[in-house]
Amino acid sequence: MAEQSGQNAQAPITQDVMTIPRKLPEGGKINLIGLTRDGLRAALIEAGTPEKQAKMRTGQIWQWLYHWGVRDFASMTNLSKDYRAQLAERFEIAIPEVVSKQVSADGTRKYLVRIAGGHEVEVVYIPETDRGTLCISSQVGCTLTCSFCHTGTQKLVRNLTAAEIIGQVMMARDDLDEWPEPGVGTGDAGPRLLSNIVLMGMGEPLYNFENVRDAMKIAMDGEGIALSRRRITLSTSGVVPEIAKTAEEIGCLLAVSFHATTDEVRDRLVPINKRWNIEALLDALREYPKVSNSERITFEYVMLKDVNDSDEDARRLVRLISGIPAKINLIPFNEWPGAPYQRSDWARIESFADIIYKAGYASPIRTPRGEDIMAACGQLKSATERARKSRKQIEAEVQQG
Ligand code: SF4
Repeated sequence: MAEQSGQNAQAPITQDVMTIPRKLPEGGKINLIGLTRDGLRAALIEAGTPEKQAKMRTGQIWQWLYHWGVRDFASMTNLSKDYRAQLAERFEIAIPEVVSKQVSADGTRKYLVRIAGGHEVEVVYIPETDRGTLCISSQVGCTLTCSFCHTGTQKLVRNLTAAEIIGQVMMARDDLDEWPEPGVGTGDAGPRLLSNIVLMGMGEPLYNFENVRDAMKIAMDGEGIALSRRRITLSTSGVVPEIAKTAEEIGCLLAVSFHATTDEVRDRLVPINKRWNIEALLDALREYPKVSNSERITFEYVMLKDVNDSDEDARRLVRLISGIPAKINLIPFNEWPGAPYQRSDWARIESFADIIYKAGYASPIRTPRGEDIMAACGQLKSATERARKSRKQIEAEVQQG
C-alpha cells in the first residue's frame, strides 16, 4: 500500500444514499465510485477541470476515495475549497447501503445491502486467524440455475455496476473500521482485516465481465485499496469464452464450480455444462494464461449425498484434472429451505478427500462458516426477486442456452 504521510483528512463519513448509475441522469450527479482512472479523469475534464491538471486531480481524488476512504469532498484537504465545492455540485460518492448485518457465532458477518432500484444483495465476511475474506456478489439473482445453489432459484434481476461491486468492499472496510486515519501515522492501516476477496457470492461474475473487471482493478490499484491480485479469486461455473480474458484483463486467481465428474451429473448440477461440457471447460483451464504451480486453479466440489461423492467420482476427478496445476476445495453441502439435496456423510467426505490427497492434491474440506445465519456457500439469496422459478422453467432456460 502506497503510504501518503502528511495528508490530514477527517474521518470518513458513512453514506446512506443508494448507488446511482454513472451516466448523468436529468438533474442527477455522477457517482465517482466505480469509475476507472481514465473514467474519473474524463468525468473531471467534462465537469470543467483543466485538462493539464486532470491527471494530478485524478490521483488526488483516487487516494481520498480508495486509500483514505473519505465520502465527502469537503474532507479532501489537498484540493482548494472552490474546487471541492465544484466537485460536490457535479459528483457524489455513493456505495450500497447496509440494510442489515448478522454476526454468526463463529464471527462470520453477513450483510444485506441495498442498491439502486431497491434491490438487495448479500455480502459475507469470513474472519480467520491469518486472513479475512470478503465474499462479494456480482449480480442480483443469477443468470444461471445451479440446482444445489440457493441463489440459483432466484431469477436474474440485473448485473451489479462496478460501483456496486467495489462498494461492497468499501462497505465492509467501513464496518471493520479498516480505513487509515488521515493525518494520523503513515497512512498504513496495519495488518489487514479484509485481506482477500472472493467473487463467490450471488451471480456468475463472467456474465458481468466489464463491471467485475473495473471493480477488481480498483481493488488492486496500488494507490488505493491495494489488494494483491493473488488475494482475489474469481469463481466461475464455466463460461468458457470469458475464462482466458480473466487472466488477461484482471489477472486474479481462478476458481471453477466443478462439482461433478460426468457430463450426465454436471448437466443436472451446473446446467451451463450443456453449453460448455467438462471437456471444453478443462481445455480452457489447461490454456489459462496465468495457471502455474504458484497460481493453481481451485476446483470447487460440493459434496452431495449419493449424487457425486463416490470413491469412483474421486478417482475420476483426479484423472480429469491431471496436468492442470490445481487444488480442490471440498464443500460440504449447506442445506437451504427446499433444497433437493443432502450433505454427504462426513465419513464419505473424508474417504473422498483421502483419495484426492493420496493423488497429490491439496484437498482441504471447506469448514462451513456462518451456517447459523445462512451465510454459508450456496445459501445466499435476497428477498429481491421477480418470480420464484419452477424447475421446469429452469430446464427450459438451460435448453435455450
Ligand atoms: S453457483 Fe454461482 S453460477 Fe450457479 S446459480 Fe449459484 S450463484 Fe449462480
